[in-house]
Amino acid sequence: MKKRILLCALVGAVLLSAVSITLILLHFRGNRDDALTTANFSLLLQQTTETPATPSLQTDTTDYSIGNYLNTTETTTTEPPTTAPLPTGRQFCVISSPFADTWSGLASDDTFTPMCTTLVQGTIDYITGQSRVFDEEEKEWRDFYLLASGRKVQTDAVQLLDPSANYGDNNIQVVSSGTDGGNLVIRLRCAWNAPYSFEFSGQNYYEKNGKHYHITAFTADKIQFTFYHTTRAEGAVNIGADSVVTNAYWTVDEQNKTASLTMPLRVVGQYYGYTMQLDADGTLVLTIKKKPNGIVGARVMLDPGHGGKDPGALGFSGAVPEAAVNFALAVATKQALERRGAIVYFTRTDDVYLSLEERKQIARQTNPDVFVSIHCNAAENKTRYGTSTYYFRPLSQALAQAVYQQLLSVYQNVFYAGDAERRARVGENANFHPFSVTRLEECPSILIETGYVTNDRECTLLLSADNRAKLGEAIAAGIEAYLSAK
Ligand SMILES: [Zn+2]
Repeated sequence: MKKRILLCALVGAVLLSAVSITLILLHFRGNRDDALTTANFSLLLQQTTETPATPSLQTDTTDYSIGNYLNTTETTTTEPPTTAPLPTGRQFCVISSPFADTWSGLASDDTFTPMCTTLVQGTIDYITGQSRVFDEEEKEWRDFYLLASGRKVQTDAVQLLDPSANYGDNNIQVVSSGTDGGNLVIRLRCAWNAPYSFEFSGQNYYEKNGKHYHITAFTADKIQFTFYHTTRAEGAVNIGADSVVTNAYWTVDEQNKTASLTMPLRVVGQYYGYTMQLDADGTLVLTIKKKPNGIVGARVMLDPGHGGKDPGALGFSGAVPEAAVNFALAVATKQALERRGAIVYFTRTDDVYLSLEERKQIARQTNPDVFVSIHCNAAENKTRYGTSTYYFRPLSQALAQAVYQQLLSVYQNVFYAGDAERRARVGENANFHPFSVTRLEECPSILIETGYVTNDRECTLLLSADNRAKLGEAIAAGIEAYLSAK
């Protein structure tokens, strides 16, 4: 697993050479559909019924995401000098990125846990320490501040406030609440923008291959938002009959200075994400998403992996850039989704580079019902083949499973129908893995490793437009099955 991802990660920015493109063109001369080159991106899109909308980006260009595939060529395990010491006393900081991922609060542990909530810009906390962790997967050092609310945040995602800045106990008041288009919208007025965390209650996890947060099913029966440094919270929440939650109540722990807003789910495991927004007037707007109503009219965001200076993994001849295969697969998936009545958005509509953080930012601006990142796998062992999907947060597991089942069916019953060994071994499951783009909390978000571009037979298979159409159908069918589930 690690090696596969590492190889996928190790492709440098300079590998998409003219030689590569020439080799592909030679390989597929006379078959324009299959010539997966940069020039063909626009051609692929023209085959679709409409140009997908991509929102404009207004984000910093710092790629502080753990899953960044690019910053991997310079590898060093020598720890750089430590950063400047913090002043004595409480040093407050404010989240300065549009959204900041957080990590486990343990200083030395970089294990991703799905309990780590993404913090919205403007959130304030104080720093209790610093740590520097070597990210084994991405081969780079990362600097963190430990926050009083018990997690780490990367130093470049926050700004230090004036050392004299201080904040007393927070208090929260529900300003208004109600259903808007089926979504539950709760507006909160806070004394200051204290940090919060989101948790599932009643979710079972299990450990596999050293990772602790695999799940067999999404079993949560409650969701809970906990606000730190807060000693008072009040105000009733009005819940519509169509909301995914039945009611909402506050619990205040004065000793630990936390206030939790707990919402039992109407149906165990039926929960589809939340958005958190800090309005200009300081109102915190929390929206709990409604249950999707089937595929017709559903908003699906497809994320063709890699692109531009990042070609992704290279195929068996060293010539087939994964980015182009991913894009063609995404177009095939879009066509299959649109035939079913879905509204499809892309993170990129051309062969351009987007950081993983930018992809998440586009998703947050578009606010889709589901987010699906499309990739191909790679391994040093070129005999390796198979298909797999990945989730990070429990709400995404059912989507990962539904898409995986459809992909597996195509491989077993169509591509490898006459090959007993391949049929038996092609399934690599729907797995937990902390890919950056699967950290979204706003909707179920998954990553697909469609097949191995490093395996001769599987790469050849992926380069056929007919086969990609079948895989696109499978991904669309999986999304439909998920969105239609009772
Ligand atoms: Zn990839």
